[in-house]
Amino acid sequence: MNDQQMVLDAIDRFLDKDVRPVAKALEQADEYPHDIVSKMRDLGLFGATIGEQYGGLGLSATVYAKIVERVSSVWMSVSGIFNSHLIMCAAIERFASESMKEHYLPRMATGELRGGIALTEPDCGTDLQAIRTRAVHHNDGYLINGTKQWITNSVEGNVLAVLVKTDLNTLPRHKGMSLLVVEKSAGYRAHKLKKLGYRGVDTGEVLFDDVWVPSTALIGDQHGRGLQQILSGLALGRINVAARGVGVAQAALSASLNYAQLRETFGQPIAQHQAIQLKLADMATQVEAARLLTERAAQVYDRGERCDLEAGMAKLFATEAAMENASEALRIHGAYGYSPDNEVERYYRDAPLLVVGEGTNELQRLIIAQQMLERHPA
Ligand SMILES: Cc1cc2nc3c(=O)[nH]c(=O)nc-3n(C[C@H](O)[C@H](O)[C@H](O)COP(=O)(O)OP(=O)(O)OC[C@H]3O[C@@H](n4cnc5c(N)ncnc54)[C@H](O)[C@@H]3O)c2cc1C
Repeated sequence: MNDQQMVLDAIDRFLDKDVRPVAKALEQADEYPHDIVSKMRDLGLFGATIGEQYGGLGLSATVYAKIVERVSSVWMSVSGIFNSHLIMCAAIERFASESMKEHYLPRMATGELRGGIALTEPDCGTDLQAIRTRAVHHNDGYLINGTKQWITNSVEGNVLAVLVKTDLNTLPRHKGMSLLVVEKSAGYRAHKLKKLGYRGVDTGEVLFDDVWVPSTALIGDQHGRGLQQILSGLALGRINVAARGVGVAQAALSASLNYAQLRETFGQPIAQHQAIQLKLADMATQVEAARLLTERAAQVYDRGERCDLEAGMAKLFATEAAMENASEALRIHGAYGYSPDNEVERYYRDAPLLVVGEGTNELQRLIIAQQMLERHPA
């Protein structure tokens, strides 16, 4: 058995033993899964894509996407706990000084420090250049003031990569933006927000009230690179989200395949009615296509090539597949799909996050079109 298969088998065992039996209760109580997090630390999941020299597993995006798919097919919220953490780690590993990498990555790989990315604000998400959170020079460091919103891991985690304005007047606006590593300290306050789905994992509003960080908190050696740094990390983020979409779409299909063979109407299982077969066929085709697009994007990423187009297409298609399959699963389950006792009800609440997070699907379409035009000049 190869190393990749051993990792995936360990994930399957963890999901069956530690996640599947408790997911429904924790999700419905919107309770942070501390025991699951502790098992994830043992498995090394918080270091999945961090290089081995910093204590991580050094997994490729291709293997990582398979892990995310498996986890999300059981409980999508669990993937959120390590996904945005690893996007932050990727930004540090790609752009930070060696001393910052050595300072943070080994402790992030073990999950002792758990992070996230703080980009979105109350007044802007897609148009990130409109952020208002400011960092001004103060006592050989920066003083941060502002509010970030919808930040995953901001309550239960202990460190964030925060996108700030270090210069308000520079044009274009992104040249005045930088990325700072901020550990929880005086002036940092976060509270959890209520959500339709994706429960259990903390998504919060964070207030920075004169939070001071040393000058070494800057990722990279100069100001004005923050937006580029985080956007390049978002390629991995979009592959993540695509893989989550595959997981949810697959879970909705599996539940429907099973139920359609058990539920009988007019003297036969509903799976024998052609109208249901058409749904199952479309759902299965969506899953296969979504999985292939996600694998392809991960392979391009692993070759170190630019993959905005591939990651954008995978994210767009796989997350729409999750939405459609969750909706079709609800129809196939009839009234039972509408009950919180049934997991398809959760898929129906979880899937919409995927079309919004890591760049909305409207934005993905714009990115895809721009890339097409760039790659195919007339
Ligand atoms: C559960 C959850 C977890 C999240 N976790 C994080 C996190 O950890 N870190 C973080 O920084 N953010 C996080 N977010 C925020 C998320 O990334 C943003 O919600 C997303 O980027 C969209 O921003 P917005 O909500 O402000 O929508 P807006 O930008 O206000 O967009 C509103 C609508 O307008 C459309 N739109 C906007 N601009 C255009 C355009 N130019 N052309 C066409 N259509 C356009 C959008 O597609 C959308 O349909 C999270 C959100 C949720 C719900």
